[in-house]
Amino acid sequence: MGKIPTTMIINKLSAHEAQKIAAGEVVERPANIVKELIENSLDAGATRITIALEEGGKRSISISDNGSGMLAEDARICFQRHTTSKLRSFNELESITTFGFRGEALASICSIAHVSLKTKHKSSSEGLQLTVDQGTLAKEQLVAVQHGTAIEISDLFYNVPARKKFLKTTTTEWNHNAALFKAFCFSNLKVHFTISHDGSTVYNCPPVKTVEQRIAQLFDTQVSNQTIELSPSDKKDITVSGAITGPHYARYDRGGLFFFVNGRWVKNYKLGSAVTKGYLNVLQPGKFPIAIINITVDPKTVDINIHPKKEEVQFLNPRIVEMTLTQAIKATLEQHLSNQLKQTVTLAPQSTPSFFSEYESPKRSMFPDLSTLPFPTSTPTPSAPLPQKQEPLETITQHEVESYPYRLIGQFKNTYLLLEHPDGLFVIDQHAAHERVLYEQFSERFKNQETIPLLFPHVITLSAQDFETLLPHLQLFIDHGIEIEAFGEQQVTIKSTPVYAKHIDMQELIQEVLGTIRDTDATDKDAFFKTITERMRAQMACKAAVKAGDVLSTEKIEGLLRNLNKTTNRFSCPHGRPTSWLLDTLSIEKKFKRKL
Ligand code: ADP
Ligand code: MG
Repeated sequence: MGKIPTTMIINKLSAHEAQKIAAGEVVERPANIVKELIENSLDAGATRITIALEEGGKRSISISDNGSGMLAEDARICFQRHTTSKLRSFNELESITTFGFRGEALASICSIAHVSLKTKHKSSSEGLQLTVDQGTLAKEQLVAVQHGTAIEISDLFYNVPARKKFLKTTTTEWNHNAALFKAFCFSNLKVHFTISHDGSTVYNCPPVKTVEQRIAQLFDTQVSNQTIELSPSDKKDITVSGAITGPHYARYDRGGLFFFVNGRWVKNYKLGSAVTKGYLNVLQPGKFPIAIINITVDPKTVDINIHPKKEEVQFLNPRIVEMTLTQAIKATLEQHLSNQLKQTVTLAPQSTPSFFSEYESPKRSMFPDLSTLPFPTSTPTPSAPLPQKQEPLETITQHEVESYPYRLIGQFKNTYLLLEHPDGLFVIDQHAAHERVLYEQFSERFKNQETIPLLFPHVITLSAQDFETLLPHLQLFIDHGIEIEAFGEQQVTIKSTPVYAKHIDMQELIQEVLGTIRDTDATDKDAFFKTITERMRAQMACKAAVKAGDVLSTEKIEGLLRNLNKTTNRFSCPHGRPTSWLLDTLSIEKKFKRKL
């Protein structure tokens, strides 16, 4: 070869530079690194993995494990490219890791951050401490440590400013790590995981036997008696299993949704929507359950894009997977509700429980035995679809005098209405009942609402993104009697509202509608409009209805009961909760051993 011409513009990058660029392509954020390191620890057979992060992992990531550890000679080369102890046959190349190839992770990480490592192999008498600088071994010394490995990574992207710039806030990066941490906890029940952030322990999760126990460790303790094992569904070629929360638990975010496809954690918006659909009429729009879902499919029918920036999954038949998931959730919730019904309606005299224990928890769901409900007409189920047939408007007006057939005993806990009914003691949830009444009223006459102008128009500022999402849907509000207009760059003003809605917090209503819009599949325009409209009514009904704990006058109660008695779908509120429950006379008599 001759000498290099001075005009040459293509330079061969140094190996280190090339590695840096490659690493920048695959490491986007601290969580990508944490994922690789936890996987390495698990591969090394660790049963205890401790993670400490600073500034969301941007400043430092430390992970220590009690795995096999490394021999000194292995530790010295594990940072080099294509070094792996895990690739033994050509076939194994199929099981590529997130970093493209086996043996790439540590090398990539070392090229974009400061790394130091302590390790001691089970069979060695001493441990080794190594410091790596710019991808090459800088320092090494012997240390006394337990077997296992501890890796410390600091100053992510210190030498790649263009990438460093794209790191998000500490909170955002922490959230990514926290989600990743939870996912590992769910998929490795036997491992004791601990994670701390900026010096304080956030989660400490000793080994457990069930996913439900993991949920209790990772979410608020109040969840622990709200979880239900997913009834296994075994559709042809698709298995769905896991655990979900019951109807009394709800979060405002999707942070409780975890999906594992063939054992691998994936993110997929559609799977999230499939879960939400399973909770339709159980959870209010904009609220989410916890759902830890394992999906097993034929590997040929799934493409898990393992690029760390995507972490997405594509099914050959996404619809079938989504439907199977929705149905599994629906079936599980229905089964759960009917179990509760059995527990509460049968007062189980044999087991001689404390009578009051039946009533101790106000949250306890009391589902009506539909066959014994006193109301005369149709018998929709608690999860009945929203109304098809509407009764004429006049039948639900207040002033029409018609006696309610049952004697009012009174209000219990300012939440339940107690009635004496020929068949037993009738208990009505005042909020659920009023919600249903209002919902049906809104459905009937949501156009031509009587509106009242606001003294001062109410101006609501939204984020640019929310504003954009809302803009095409303002008519929805107008249809419901809420006079709303876009105002300026990112604001809307509300000039009048329907009379019944004057106490509704409009900002909150808008946020909930936004959540619903985002969650609803807009591909089918009619279905989209129908869903949004139904949910909007349900939200307004919920907000305008009397609350649990409200003291009601006898007059008001009687008005409510009259209206309820004439309302379609009177057995459940728009969210699917029951409005009423009958404790039949026979059960009461049996309880007191008057009858056997
Ligand atoms: P890979 O995991 O694909 O083999 P890595 O670059 O992630 O590649 O790791 C290189 C090698 O370093 C691994 O094959 C393993 O032998 C060793 N190693 C890395 N982390 C650990 C650990 N926590 N415990 C034991 N050995 C480890
Ligand atoms: Mg690895």
